[in-house]
Amino acid sequence: MALSGIQIYKMLPQTNCKDCGFPTCLAFSMKLAAKQVELSLCPHVSDESKEKLSESAAPPIRLVTLSANGHEVKAGNETVLFRHEKTFFYKPGLFIRVRDDEAVETIREKLALADAYEVVYVGIELALDGFAVESVSGDPAVFAQAVEAARSVSQRPLLLIADDPKVIAAGLEATNGKGTLIYGANNNNWEEMTELAKAKGASLAVTAGSLEGLAELTEKIKGQGVEDLVIDPGARDFSTSLAYATQLRRLALKKNLRSLGYPIIVFPGDAGDPAEESMLAAQAIAKYAGFIVLDHFAPEKVYPLLVLRENIYTDPQKPIQVQPGLYELNNPTADDPLLVTTNFSITYFSVANEVEGSGLPAWLLVSDAEGMSVLTAWAAGKFDAERIAKDVKRFEVTGKVNHKRMVIPGHVAVISGELEEELPDWEIRVGPREAVDLPAFMKQVLK
Ligand code: SF4
Repeated sequence: MALSGIQIYKMLPQTNCKDCGFPTCLAFSMKLAAKQVELSLCPHVSDESKEKLSESAAPPIRLVTLSANGHEVKAGNETVLFRHEKTFFYKPGLFIRVRDDEAVETIREKLALADAYEVVYVGIELALDGFAVESVSGDPAVFAQAVEAARSVSQRPLLLIADDPKVIAAGLEATNGKGTLIYGANNNNWEEMTELAKAKGASLAVTAGSLEGLAELTEKIKGQGVEDLVIDPGARDFSTSLAYATQLRRLALKKNLRSLGYPIIVFPGDAGDPAEESMLAAQAIAKYAGFIVLDHFAPEKVYPLLVLRENIYTDPQKPIQVQPGLYELNNPTADDPLLVTTNFSITYFSVANEVEGSGLPAWLLVSDAEGMSVLTAWAAGKFDAERIAKDVKRFEVTGKVNHKRMVIPGHVAVISGELEEELPDWEIRVGPREAVDLPAFMKQVLK
């Protein structure tokens, strides 16, 4: 049962010492009740209170970590229903599934390709998180071979799927078990699956015919000592899976229902149709999956999902930024043009990619606009003449460039006069509004 802020306050030292970073114990207790801070921030709480508060202080959705050979995927520990309330912390793991009725060579080829896939998006390296091996044969030896094949080409975490505990046991032997997710425990096999998970230090996915059934089963499994659980609400279509995912998140956060406070696993791959699979996966990224299992791998299919995931699991109040500074594009000499933009990642990469793609050398002064795009920063007073002039000095532009000509983005043409006042001996030129037009502008106007 969740405790109120006042109930928590009564168990705190009430000295208002501020060591937790809050001005009063009451302020801290309110945050603790809202699951926005951890109890460990208060170093003075007594052991007795700690024990009483531990249940209340535990995250409403358990954090489950799969780690193998230096790769790690974490899910859970979320504290809000909507991203704009705070942020979503742990990106859902994207897994590609193979089945043990496929030839071992085919499994190796498929997974090696997916494992090698990496792409850089606005300076962030994106890749898949792991692979799933499903038993279709029902034969432990065949399953173990498939798991070995997967492990031979990828060191990422594995998800082992089978109903028969003997099959799962063979798979766990083949992969050393630790950091693996087993799928899954159901009403018929949960005792054996729980023993396997416990013995091998694996996490356990749980299925049941209903949410009530899931809640009962997770309680039984937890009672046997396995707490790293993942739940499959069982829906595979768009509307029911969205309804279940939302219900589960609400029950965990708003009603503090611990028996359903676990990351959710979904199987968009079950749709069969690759297009539907992508849409189901996109829905699951937005609402509220912890692990997503796909059947089809292709860069053009996975890339949009990785980017979507990146966009949703970033703090909306902290734009993705690049370091302000003077950047070299295509090895410029001191005579080459000087362009200016802001340090919002997408803005920087739009400009840098267009110029680099054109092969034209240039200097790019990235001004510290607190991670905002050009127009937003200008409207907020974060990208003005004074700031640009300061950055010209701060990044010692005149030590690298032997001319005094600068191209500002077309969207902020209005600051050109002020910039001439700030930098009296400079020629300020107004460039195009869109990055895509920069190469033509550089060829035709700056030649
Ligand atoms: S550190 Fe503990 S005792 Fe000090 S103000 Fe925070 S909650 Fe109160």
